[in-house]
This record gives sequence, C-alpha cells and structure tokens, in this order.
Amino acid sequence: MNKLYRTVILITILFSSSLLAIVAFPDTIMASTQNTNSTLAGAGFQPEARQADTQGHANAGTDANIQESQRNHPPNADAGNNKIVRESENVELDGRGSSDQDGDKLTYRWELVSPKNLKIKLYDANSADPNFIAPTLDSSTSKVTLVFKFTVSDGNYPATDIVRISVTPLDTGGDDPNDNNKITTLTVIDTGEQPSKNQFFASDVCGAGTTAYSYLASGVKWRTFPVTFAIDAANSHIDINAAKTAVRKAFAAIDALNQPAGLFFQETSNYAAAKIKFTWKYIDGPFRQLGYTTFSYRTDTKALISATITLDSGDKYFVSPTERCGGSGSLFDVQNIATHEIGHAINLGHVSDRLQSMYPSSLAGETLKRTLGNGDIKGISTLY
Ligand SMILES: [Zn+2]
Repeated sequence: MNKLYRTVILITILFSSSLLAIVAFPDTIMASTQNTNSTLAGAGFQPEARQADTQGHANAGTDANIQESQRNHPPNADAGNNKIVRESENVELDGRGSSDQDGDKLTYRWELVSPKNLKIKLYDANSADPNFIAPTLDSSTSKVTLVFKFTVSDGNYPATDIVRISVTPLDTGGDDPNDNNKITTLTVIDTGEQPSKNQFFASDVCGAGTTAYSYLASGVKWRTFPVTFAIDAANSHIDINAAKTAVRKAFAAIDALNQPAGLFFQETSNYAAAKIKFTWKYIDGPFRQLGYTTFSYRTDTKALISATITLDSGDKYFVSPTERCGGSGSLFDVQNIATHEIGHAINLGHVSDRLQSMYPSSLAGETLKRTLGNGDIKGISTLY
C-alpha cells in the first residue's frame, strides 16, 4: 500500500506543478489539466491527493492513509416498508433502518410528494419515525395512496427513499370488502401543559365534579373479560418498576368499580399478545402532545379488539409523592396520565369538566385524574 500512496503523492506533486503552470502560462491550461486529471482519476484518489499535498510533505505517506480513512461516505436512506392502513388510523413512518457507515449524525426530512393537494400533519416531523393520522376519505374515493419522500443527510451528502402508504376506508377493513369482520380504528390525541402560577391550587378544590361523560364510538366496548394488558416502560426515563406500578394503579382504579362484575383487566408479560399495550415513544418533546390512544373495534359486533396507549417519552414523568389538584413543576404524573388514557382504551371520550379524569388536557404535576370523577364513573357503569 505504501508504494501506491507514494505513487499518488508523486502524481499530486506533478498536479501542483501543473497548477503553477496554469497561472504562469495560460496557454497550457487545457493540455496540462486534462493530462493530470486523467492520471488521477485512474488512481481513484483525486480529491484526497490534492488535500494530502496541501497538508504537508514531511510525512506524506501517513497523511494519505488518514485521508482515506476519513473519507466521507454518503448515508443510506431506508423509508421502511409500504403499508396499508385505514382512514383515521395513527400511522408510524419508520426510517430507523437508515444508516451511515462513517457514524455521522443524520438528519431526516419527510415530504408528502403525492397526492399534491393533500395536507398531512406529521408529528415529530424531523425524526426518523414520525407519525400522522391517516386522512379520511370522501365517499367517492375507495382508496388513496400517500407517497412520502424521505431524505437522510449526514451534513455533506443527502440520500433519499420513497414509501407508499395506502389509506383504505374504515368499514371495508380486511382484504375482502364483503367480509363481515369489519374493523374500525380510532385515535385520540391528548395534550400536556406547563402550569402557570395561578394553576397551583392552595386548597383542595378537586371534588368529583359533574356526571358528564362521553364515548368515542357509540355502543363500542370490551366484551370478553378479563382484558389483558402489558406495560413497556423502557422509554419512560424513570424507574421502570415505579412507572409500571403507577400504570397498574390506574388500571386498578377502573377495575375497583366492579363494572362489569369480576376482573376487568389482567396483566400479561406477553407484550405482543396483550389486548391493551401501554408504552412510551418519542412524539414531540416537552408539553404539546402528551400521548395518544389508538383502538380498533369490529363494527358488526361493536367489540373492542385492541388498544395501544403511547405516552410521549419527550415529556418528563415522575410518580408524584403527593396528591395535587392543580399543576406544579414540569413533570407529569404517570398514574394521572395513565388513568385518562386507559379511559380512552375502554371507549371513554373527552368531557369539558376539568374535575373528570377524561378532561382532555393535563397540567404537569397534577394528580387530579388518578381518582375517577362522577362523570367517569357514570360513563363506565352505563357502558359496562
Ligand atoms: Zn384524551
């Protein structure tokens, strides 16, 4: 190898002489550069050879070695597999298979290139794996295919890939439109706020509130019990056991109503098989979107089939040692948020009464939603 590098350096010196010649004798430009370039191209070290020369001659062989090892390679873009989804479904794009052999920090950009007239809001748009809510289709459209262009850059070179997401109507789930097993998927998104000064209540004003309740989908519910659940707290960024214990308490608060009679929920260690999955994933950083729950049900039997609760690992969590009706600080209480999201997973919708667990927003620090309000209880006992 040393011999080869010496050859390259020698050619470089010749090349430099040509450059000098260019300055001194403009008439020789074409002939000199063409000659030198073709020789360098043959050696395959064109840009590096020039740099080696400008960085010193004393240890030229070593410099050439460093230049080759530091040569930057373009990244590899992988936009993930094409997918078929249903309208209103929460869809995750997955570019995490992208790589860079130099280990450079990569930046990501997703762009909807077709259809041109459609606007899609991407959550965490600059990440490798953003999510979006699939658009609803108008009655004349049986299907729309979204084409996303995915661009990965290592700061020097971009690389691109394409992924196609086919959006199909709600009520023709499954491969066969005549299939009775019609499945609908719904997603509900929740937000978190940092409390202002006035939102820390000095005295207990929690109470149990009104009897307001709502459902996400009329008549839809779990129909086989117990409903299994599993918790993946690896990305909660707090003690995993503490996080799991808090989530279990949230399930237990609903179970304690004994509606229906007997066990409502049962924990399983088999995450993949669990009917309700509870996890943390990066969504959009502190505050704003705090989490979302997606559930699927059969439209013929109105039976819930599965639900996934995802909390934003970009928010900061804790298990509050004290009960707080109002907000304080910047950490969200796991049990507080979990109670609300599990409410969605059994088909409870939002209400405007702040004292209910199903109020659509949470302040950092509050634990108000840990305890079911009058409306939450009425909603559960009416449905189950
Ligand atoms: Zn909600």
